[in-house]
Amino acid sequence: MELNILTLSYLIGSITFILGLKMLSNPASARKGNLVAAGGMTIAILATIFLYEEDGEKLHNYGWIFGGIAIGTLIGFLAAKRVKMTAMPEMVSLFNGMGGACAMLISIVEFNHFYEHLRPYLEIGLTEAENFAFGSETSLQGSGAQLALHLVIILAGLVIGTVSFAGSIIAWGKLNGRVKDFAFRGQHIFNIVLLLIIIGLSVYMVYHTSRFEFPSFYEEESVTANTWLPSSFKYIFYGILVLSALYGIFFVLPIGGADMPVVISLLNSFTGVAAACGGFLYDNKVMLTGGILVGAAGTLLTILMCKAMNRSLANVLIGSFGGGAKAGGGAAKEQGAYKEISLSDAAVVMTYANKVFIVPGYGLAVAQAQHICHELEKLLESKGVEVKYAIHPVAGRMPGHMNVLLAEADVPYEKLLEMEHANEEFPTTDVVLVLGANDVVNPAAKTDPSSPIYGMPILDVELAKNVIVNKRSMKPGYAGIENDLFFQPRTSMLFGDAKKVLQDLVAEIKNL
Ligand code: NDP
Repeated sequence: MELNILTLSYLIGSITFILGLKMLSNPASARKGNLVAAGGMTIAILATIFLYEEDGEKLHNYGWIFGGIAIGTLIGFLAAKRVKMTAMPEMVSLFNGMGGACAMLISIVEFNHFYEHLRPYLEIGLTEAENFAFGSETSLQGSGAQLALHLVIILAGLVIGTVSFAGSIIAWGKLNGRVKDFAFRGQHIFNIVLLLIIIGLSVYMVYHTSRFEFPSFYEEESVTANTWLPSSFKYIFYGILVLSALYGIFFVLPIGGADMPVVISLLNSFTGVAAACGGFLYDNKVMLTGGILVGAAGTLLTILMCKAMNRSLANVLIGSFGGGAKAGGGAAKEQGAYKEISLSDAAVVMTYANKVFIVPGYGLAVAQAQHICHELEKLLESKGVEVKYAIHPVAGRMPGHMNVLLAEADVPYEKLLEMEHANEEFPTTDVVLVLGANDVVNPAAKTDPSSPIYGMPILDVELAKNVIVNKRSMKPGYAGIENDLFFQPRTSMLFGDAKKVLQDLVAEIKNL
């Protein structure tokens, strides 16, 4: 009966993960989706703690289990409460690293079980091993092929989990500036060699395990046959662990800062696969489903982000785009002069427009100006102006960054237009107000083949009658390149911190 309830709760867990993911794809239902999936996860965890049985015995380390849950919950709660929107990718990276570390630890524990069960054959010889009545009380009975499969899963969890853990910690360090970009000549070759050694050692272990046969205590001949297993296995296993950690570090170190969100998404998919390996090891369906879903979602997100930047994954991984030493793109061009607009002129132009588009970017998140931005939108609408937002898929520093930011300020979802739809409307727009966006409105993506962002679909704001760009200076955005838009005849610069500028703009419009 209890087993059935356990299975049922795993089924509920799996279904809620899928429903939750589905709901996350729409801003209106995303919050609820998150809660639905978390609820399913809670059911699965509690069911495991109270109902799971092995050899007729239930879990008993309740102090450790609930102590760990309490500490983890407290840390997670405080971190989520305190994190700034702009630091969200860092937090995701750190939490993803913890998932990788979990998979790594599971593999270490399971390898030790595996090794201890086989140890009699390695260290004390077969005759004495018989006295252990080996095999009678372990689930590790079976042919060499079965054991080898078990080891493959342990090793896959170890390698993928460790790479994800080490890589995520480096990504976290890079995003918060603690770890600097680091690359040396031939680093990519070095990484490939490292990977080949890891694969080679793993194949060696699996091959020898596949040749192993449990002796039958009744047939003397088979006792001596195929029972050889190198006693160096433990050293090789920990060697693979260290090499995987090194690989994770050197894999992420040379990747440019702007590409960190893509790398985090990729590492996230690794963690999913590593967790799925844990599901295999424990024959736990909900862990398996959860891992596969995370792996698939991470892979899809990685592909979508690369597509939105019109770059291949290989280019992201070896392109050093937006690194510490800013990618220059083509040679620095002589730019013409740019013109500025005063606050009062900007207020007049916007108030007497029919249609205004707001283009939010990373700077809006930095300034935390989303609430005052919404106020400006409502004020303009009260004066009969149609106001919409144009959302570029990679504006900001994480997927959906602008959607989340504007949702925080209660901007209605229907006012947010995706890039393709916004681009159709720009030619009939009177004013585009660019708020702290830069790369996502850079026409070089369409016109300059030497630019690192060439080919990335962008918001065609230059097609509008007037473009007002708010930022603090003429400094480049994350790709580290100049923006032709700022020098075009229809563009005017409105310098200053986005929050302050919007507050002043709102005050000006109210006085008109
Ligand atoms: P950018 O990073 O191109 O530009 C942001 C601009 O905001 C800067 O030029 C900066 O100029 C300005 N700014 C910063 N602080 C403020 C402030 N307080 N007030 C006003 N302006 C400010 O941002 P975009 O959103 O246009 O582009 C995102 C970039 O990130 C793209 O290159 C994209 O490829 C990359 N990226 C995004 C990912 C995602 O998932 N969203 C993933 C991977 C990469 P100044 O200093 O002069 O104020």
